[in-house]
Amino acid sequence: MAKKKPRAKKPPRRQPKRRIQLMVIPEPEPNTRSVLIYTGEGTVVMRGEANVVMECGNCGVPLVDGVPVGNILSIVFKCPNCGAFNETLA
Ligand SMILES: [Zn+2]
Repeated sequence: MAKKKPRAKKPPRRQPKRRIQLMVIPEPEPNTRSVLIYTGEGTVVMRGEANVVMECGNCGVPLVDGVPVGNILSIVFKCPNCGAFNETLA
């Protein structure tokens, strides 16, 4: 049985990015975790090409845009917007 695939028209220009909400944690003890504190413009601490956005679990601003989850394991981001500490997956 041949499966007939209806021919899709042109794909949308951009796929919506997958959004992941990071987990808010209490401020880690000094020197116990890798904590990234970003002081530049905007709220995005790290950027890449992947189709994923990680957002602050407290206020929802994007903190990591386009970096695959597996690349930033067990890192703590301090949200430049609300100051919450956000932990990536371990
Ligand atoms: Zn925040």
